[in-house]
Amino acid sequence: MNRTSKTFFTALTSLALLFPGYSLAAIDIENGSGGIMESMLASDAETFSDAIQVGLKSGHYARLSSVKLRGLRAKTYGATVARFEYRYTKHGVEQVRVYHARSGRSVRDFIGKFDSGYKSSSDGEMAPAADEADILLDAQESIYYPADTATDIRVARLKPKPGSTIDAVHTGETTADGTNKIVHGADAELKILRRIEYDIEDNVVASGGRITGYVSKTVCASCEKAMEEFTRKFDVHGKVYHLNDGKAIGGVELPGDLAASQASSKMLAETRKDYVKSLINQDGATPRVRSWTEDASRMARLEAEEAVEGIANAAGCES
Ligand SMILES: [Zn+2]
Repeated sequence: MNRTSKTFFTALTSLALLFPGYSLAAIDIENGSGGIMESMLASDAETFSDAIQVGLKSGHYARLSSVKLRGLRAKTYGATVARFEYRYTKHGVEQVRVYHARSGRSVRDFIGKFDSGYKSSSDGEMAPAADEADILLDAQESIYYPADTATDIRVARLKPKPGSTIDAVHTGETTADGTNKIVHGADAELKILRRIEYDIEDNVVASGGRITGYVSKTVCASCEKAMEEFTRKFDVHGKVYHLNDGKAIGGVELPGDLAASQASSKMLAETRKDYVKSLINQDGATPRVRSWTEDASRMARLEAEEAVEGIANAAGCES
């Protein structure tokens, strides 16, 4: 460390001492991009889409019209998926737990909105009773997803811990009569933070760890706030890479990381759309529920392939 940075660091440390509530650690949000991130999120998106098809085949729903089916498909490939790796040290050993989530409510509620015979528990309103019923449904639907393992968790919705600051905040939305409405209560990132909060408080994982997160869409202000609260409460820091789903404006040169992120966002959206179009169909097959291990080995293979490509590119090979 050179003299200038040392002085700077000392200044920061004294600031932290002056304001003990303030931690220097943070969960930084950055534009993510690249083949590995796209594949990782595509793989999780497939798993969550499979769950919708399993639900659709469960016999709970009347026949969906083609318009409704199109709506359901759009909602399926449009849902945000998030995958957070949480690295922590327990009994002197570094451990990792990977949390997988999609935005929104239970599969029953997710499909129900397109089924004329099904009375939705939500309609965008967040009545506490309806929310609790949906949380129960979501937990019962764990059979639609890969089984949880010690290292991989499908994050179901959970009730906020009493008095917890890890929660959705108002970001400007109002109802028709002008009252404030909180719309980010079932966001994928928030669900994950809440699950880690449960895990820390239940002593499943230790606090003070590091998050590496991947999100298929731009992180909203409500989730950003929840991350700040999470750092403050549990001294967790790290990085969350999101795909920037903003629309490129013609003729405007974007910074490289933003342009790359938007390109990856588009690529992922197309992959997901293709998958969902061939999958979500009442006459189609019920997909086999895969395991998180299959997913992990697939990722390892992709990473190996990408590394080889990297070496080839570095060696100046044309591909
Ligand atoms: Zn959000």
